[in-house]
Amino acid sequence: MREKSLAIHAGYDGNEFGTMAVPIYQTTAYEFRDAKHASDLFELKELGNIYTRLMNPTTDVFEKRFAKLEGGVSAIATASGMSAIFYAIANVAEVGDNIIVAKQVYGGTTTLTGHTIKRFGIEARYFDVHKPSELEELIDDKTKLIIFESITNPSIDVADIEAITTIAKSYRVLTCTDNTVATPIICRPIEHGVDIVVHSASKYTTGQGLAIGGILVERENIIDTLKDNSRYYHFNEPDESYHGLIYTNMPLPPFTLRVRLALLRDLGATPSPFNSWLYIQGLETLSLRIRQHSNSALAIAKFLENHPKVKKVNYPGLESDSNHEMALKYFSDGMASGLLSFEVDTKAQAQNIADRTKIFKIVTNIGDSKSIITHPASTTHQQLSLEELKSAGVPAGLIRLSVGLEDTQDLIEDLSQALEEE
Ligand code: PLP
Repeated sequence: MREKSLAIHAGYDGNEFGTMAVPIYQTTAYEFRDAKHASDLFELKELGNIYTRLMNPTTDVFEKRFAKLEGGVSAIATASGMSAIFYAIANVAEVGDNIIVAKQVYGGTTTLTGHTIKRFGIEARYFDVHKPSELEELIDDKTKLIIFESITNPSIDVADIEAITTIAKSYRVLTCTDNTVATPIICRPIEHGVDIVVHSASKYTTGQGLAIGGILVERENIIDTLKDNSRYYHFNEPDESYHGLIYTNMPLPPFTLRVRLALLRDLGATPSPFNSWLYIQGLETLSLRIRQHSNSALAIAKFLENHPKVKKVNYPGLESDSNHEMALKYFSDGMASGLLSFEVDTKAQAQNIADRTKIFKIVTNIGDSKSIITHPASTTHQQLSLEELKSAGVPAGLIRLSVGLEDTQDLIEDLSQALEEE
């Protein structure tokens, strides 16, 4: 099946009641057939449902569907995009290790990597997503993961995915791409050598700003990087917390297996079955929505590009954009998603424009059917130092738009009147 069909059918083939829609299995726990069945499940002699912190049949459909869409082999849904990113890191790194992160990432990823994991003894080193060769200087024996976004939020850069994964592979270091903005309909990082893909499902996956969630997808045969690689010794040595299980000896995808058995067990950032059901509904229309988000965003980017009060527009779908070549290389069907940013002279001007829009709402979210205007320097990126703001590509006069599904002309007229009065 192709992506549009996978988004509607993968992971679910009906059940004993013949329900056409995937049911919400709203339960905390599962009854075992007998005591032996219970112990077989805990020992992984048989696979099945144990407890909703670890797995759930509704969430399972979402995970299987998303894994297929990303071209991966297995997925784990989480309670938020941030917990998916944290699990990707915590699954490989410990005190004394380091990870390498693109400078141009979502503000939460900058604070997670620059501050929170530092307190766990994990160092974050940063590279410019436009200069993958910087990785050569940063990778050492303690490097466990390279994290970057396929389309960066909010600077709207496009990563040269293959340049990054080629270097990572030469050191046998895992790579992780946050594909939230592009979605698997536009870009499939695993096809370009990425090992782990993470998403905030809170964005284009739900598509209507309905729930907070995340997902982490593992590529097939990740064992070729993990097996007998001293960098990832804990995948090759017995896990004492699970009766000496060795992840790379298991007949299951080892990265997501360890997230499930160790991290979901101990940290428990699990989605509710209801939210997993919402993500399933969202996936069914994702390919239609992302086409419309992309078409509308391109028309708005062209309008802004010709506006005298706009200094610069960042949208990879524009031929004039410095990321356009990368967009042509990595994105499908000329789409570039619904996120764009533009720059005006000052912070005050940017805030005035946001105040004057009527259809665009001032909200710190993206990927909603409703259009959103954000001033990153005073909101999503407020906790970043001036230096961090600069390297994240967030000048004070930058405005981010998440273009929704309203009529394109209405959106252009809304921006036009907000800019006129400025
Ligand atoms: N990744 C990106 C690119 C994001 O934009 C966001 C949130 O805005 C996140 C991750 C975090 O996701 P969540 O809010 O679901 O934790």
